[in-house]
Amino acid sequence: MYRCFGELLSRGAGSFLAADSALPVSASLLRHRGYSQVADQEDDPNFFTMVEGFFDRGAAIVENKLVEDLKSRDSSEQKRKTVRGILRVIKPCNHVLSLNFPLKRDNGEWEVIEAYRAQHSQHRTPCKGGIRYSTDVCMDEVKALASLMTYKCAVVDVPFGGAKAGVKINPKNYSDAELEKITRRFTIELSKKGFIGPGIDVPAPDMSTGEREMSWIADTFATTMGYKDINAHACVTGKPISQGGIHGRISATGRGVFHGIENFINEASYMSQLGMCPGFQDKTFIIQGFGNVGLHSMRYLHRFGAKCIGVAELDGSIWNPNGINPKELEDYKLANGTVVGFPDAKPYEGNLLEADCDILIPAAGEKQLTKSNAHKVKAKIIAEGANGPTTPEADRIFLERNIMVIPDLYLNAGGVTVSYFEWLKNLNHVSYGRLTFKYERDSNYHLLMSVQESLERKFGKHGGSISIVPTSEFQARISGASEKDIVHSGLAYTMERSARQIMRTANKYNLGLDLRTAAYVNAIEKVYNVYREAGLTFT
Ligand code: NAD
Repeated sequence: MYRCFGELLSRGAGSFLAADSALPVSASLLRHRGYSQVADQEDDPNFFTMVEGFFDRGAAIVENKLVEDLKSRDSSEQKRKTVRGILRVIKPCNHVLSLNFPLKRDNGEWEVIEAYRAQHSQHRTPCKGGIRYSTDVCMDEVKALASLMTYKCAVVDVPFGGAKAGVKINPKNYSDAELEKITRRFTIELSKKGFIGPGIDVPAPDMSTGEREMSWIADTFATTMGYKDINAHACVTGKPISQGGIHGRISATGRGVFHGIENFINEASYMSQLGMCPGFQDKTFIIQGFGNVGLHSMRYLHRFGAKCIGVAELDGSIWNPNGINPKELEDYKLANGTVVGFPDAKPYEGNLLEADCDILIPAAGEKQLTKSNAHKVKAKIIAEGANGPTTPEADRIFLERNIMVIPDLYLNAGGVTVSYFEWLKNLNHVSYGRLTFKYERDSNYHLLMSVQESLERKFGKHGGSISIVPTSEFQARISGASEKDIVHSGLAYTMERSARQIMRTANKYNLGLDLRTAAYVNAIEKVYNVYREAGLTFT
């Protein structure tokens, strides 16, 4: 059964309805664009090299434009040298801090904890990026994630450089008291080395960290190195509200994932190329990783009519073709510590990444979609909730197979966007809406009264006064926007504006479904302009 005309054409005719703005990319064209250098590496590429490869692809496309745009009396050869010089400055990771510090465990034994913080770029300050606790943490990983953060911030116009931290532990193996000791000690080490501070470097939550850890970090910094700094609590975002956090931060990345998909799924030209109808109705999706990003992405997609048919976790996968309810699954996981055994779904034996669905949302670790499984993926849209889930080789296969990848550096940028709002709130020392609530409510009532008086002046009050009744929508807004309203609308606006920029770039350079390269082109151009306008000289 075909669900729309685009789907019928696509499947029935064995070809697709190509829209002008979203033409398919042939394998030879991909090779021509330098894809092969990145993709021909082994299928488990070094993560940082992988991000550098994506950067190179974007840089190769935008270089000529940057040379043309340079306004100077230099020869074109010199201009190209300048452009290449700046691009070379952007790419590497500026600073990497590698730490080993001791932990006295609850049982009296000692352990040495390995941790890192990478600052990829200071073209804008502070640097920004999460802290993850995972046994996979290594220097390569934090460098890659830090560089992704630079490009991600640029894509969504958040004025920060990129950073990332990792502590090489499995948090499940430590008590709460031990985790607090690790987090506080890590904060002290970061602050001693100038790797944390409201204007220097501002961490946030990532895998296996959340409000609790951010609260420990804020408290440690504010009561030690930051004790003289009135802005000390802006040294970290993702804090609880009582510590200066902001409403909507916990769900921000998932909400951003939803908006990001929404912007592309409602675009008829892209959907007809995929043979799908626009909109979320009747779309099925699968999530890998039921953590912060996975849960909240699922909640919003479910709310807007899409159906989650599978959830993959480390200890097992579940499946229900009739749909899984996010709230029930969240409650079950809270009670049981796992999604396995969820009564309203069956265990799934195969690899859920390869199961039939419309949208696949990797929301766990990196390099999950590789050469070995990319050709088995059946989803038509891959929505990268996680950072770096797709290797370059898999990315090439998806483009050849006409699968749309909505890339990480755009799609999961909701978290850093709302972190930026939190940081601004902290610097302003006032919550959004606090100063304007009453004024806006009074103004709105005055407006209604003024309309009423005007009508009564014109038509008289013979039949009684003319009452003006606000609509329920206006009534709901009459008191002005709450902090949550402002955060939600700011996030939706950011995701929409960046999606439009990506679409325009994809169109301009005839990139078809290669949205990743389009996003990199946008990011590179923005970061490049900051360096160029800062007047750096390369002599
Ligand atoms: P999290 O720790 O809250 O959740 C991750 C979940 O994935 C966990 O439940 C874990 O058990 C599961 N998981 C790990 N490996 C898996 C695998 N191989 N198969 C199936 N499940 C697996 O982490 P998170 O904050 O949701 O982050 C997930 C991803 O999103 C990461 O790549 C992170 O960098 C990225 N991200 C997070 C944020 C944020 O605000 N938290 C922002 C942007 C990007």
